[in-house]
Amino acid sequence: MTSPTIGVFALQGDVREHLHALAALGVDALAVRRPAELERCDGLVIPGGESTTMDKLARTFELFEPLQKRIQGGMPAFGTCAGMIMLADRIADGTADQETLGGLDITVRRNAFGRQVDSFEGELDFDGFEDPVHAVFIRAPWVEQVGAQVEVLARVGSGPATGRIVAVRQGPLMATSFHPEVGDDVRIHRMFVDLVTQSS
Ligand code: GLN
Repeated sequence: MTSPTIGVFALQGDVREHLHALAALGVDALAVRRPAELERCDGLVIPGGESTTMDKLARTFELFEPLQKRIQGGMPAFGTCAGMIMLADRIADGTADQETLGGLDITVRRNAFGRQVDSFEGELDFDGFEDPVHAVFIRAPWVEQVGAQVEVLARVGSGPATGRIVAVRQGPLMATSFHPEVGDDVRIHRMFVDLVTQSS
């Protein structure tokens, strides 16, 4: 396959920045709000935003089950921040009725670094990249526990959260606690596009 079609879950969150990053990589990128749009996708990005709202809207718009089926069927997916929460099998500090799509054998802690005021930026060593990634964290989750099949791609390198896992991959699923769509570094998106190309 030359150019895959990659969707961005678009019921809530920072959709536009992901569409830009994907378009910059020559991908056919589309906003996904309904099942028919999801059907066209070879892979899906789930952006940052608010995972409790994403969960509710996905149900209201009848996208939750189709999404879960595609993920269970092996469609590559990349979740950033709230998207990471949506892809996690288990949440710590979720709301009482919050559900996730699941797929990644991880436990994520919501708002793990603190509230909005504790949002921060930093340089991270990222598996497979020569130069560090400039990572922007906004009310971010961290990964508290990973299953045996999960590869850790990045951990916080300094400060009070040193060692916390902030990027993972398990087969066709990837997730970062931070926002790689901010700025013009498309290396992490390229990694996902390669994953989609290999899986198709
Ligand atoms: N705290 C948000 C949540 O729980 C995630 C924040 C973000 O995506 N920037 O969904």
